[in-house]
Amino acid sequence: MPFDDRSRASSQAHPAAGLIDRFGRKVDYLRLSVTDRCDLRCTYCMAERMTFLPRRELLTIEELVNLTSAFIDLGVQKVRLTGGEPLVRHGITALIEQLGQQVARGRLRELTLTTNGTQLARHAAFLADNGVRRVNVSLDTIDPAKFTQITRIGRLEQVLNGIETARAAGLRVKINTMALRGFNETELPDLVDWALQRGCDVSFIEVMPMGEVAADDRLGQYWPLQEVRTLLERRLTLVDTDFNTGGPARYCDVRGTEQRIGFITPMSRTFCAGCNRVRVNCRGELFTCLGREGSRDLRPALRKAPGAPRIQQAIHEALSCKPAGHDFAYGAQGVAGAVSRSMNHTGG
Ligand code: SAM
Ligand code: SF4
Repeated sequence: MPFDDRSRASSQAHPAAGLIDRFGRKVDYLRLSVTDRCDLRCTYCMAERMTFLPRRELLTIEELVNLTSAFIDLGVQKVRLTGGEPLVRHGITALIEQLGQQVARGRLRELTLTTNGTQLARHAAFLADNGVRRVNVSLDTIDPAKFTQITRIGRLEQVLNGIETARAAGLRVKINTMALRGFNETELPDLVDWALQRGCDVSFIEVMPMGEVAADDRLGQYWPLQEVRTLLERRLTLVDTDFNTGGPARYCDVRGTEQRIGFITPMSRTFCAGCNRVRVNCRGELFTCLGREGSRDLRPALRKAPGAPRIQQAIHEALSCKPAGHDFAYGAQGVAGAVSRSMNHTGG
């Protein structure tokens, strides 16, 4: 679907100026989804029976490298690989190796991943050797039975093993946890204790209405993070801080520890005014907003003239349509502004 460009205005057209949208927001962060496939089936993310894209539709590793280079030339400083599950993508090590060289050459400040952790034990040392310093691991519970329930097919032990291997390899691990009413309400304090004991920060995330999950389920799952904070404060002293990683989380220091807890509140308190990111999915579609339907297909430019100004021009044109923010909201009447793409299609 093309962008809604009724209010088209140009973004900064000079590459040296970097990517600045029409609201003056500087975009220097690319989240690159390298596959829509996954070895888990988290209930809030995807359907049990998924039809994934035919492999021929995926950008090749070379195209992913060329595309990322074009973004780096335009001033992108941070790249996060995501998916689907990035570590199940065929050829992922070749991609990481090449992007790691961009880090080594000082062209990229940070290369990182969001992963479900199932393949981390196998890849952690390789990641650490190729420019990755920290990873986000998504983990919603440390109860083995509930882990299998929420992921439909996952084994908690495999993920915990991956986390330990990553830490042993010197990677910093942040835990990303969906706050899901009726699922992990009672156990979040234990999960936080578990993470703090291992020197891991934790970020909580509010569930967003994306993909084919019944609106009633979404409403039932939604748990505003202010309530989560209140719950945690029964056991911990949380001190607000200005620390930020350039992302949407608001952080608190946990008194008496070196750790922080982050709150990512797309629903209860939007952060669109400070948005610094765009997403490209594994088909080469550029999404300038996670919560809007529009996208720009970068493949034609990528395939006609890889590495050439054509890709940069396409990126600038797409950026000129980056919306002010998303429209989704939960209310008494139901869920508003939901988008049909599931998270694994866009890249979370
Ligand atoms: N498979 C990897 C993982 O789980 O970390 C990377 C992709 S996953 C789509 C990225 C993040 O999106 C995960 O932390 C997941 O919890 C989150 N996510 C999935 N569906 C979501 C939804 N509907 N609302 C908010 N976050 C969601
Ligand atoms: Fe897979 Fe990540 Fe979606 Fe879970 S959240 S199904 S691990 S892509």
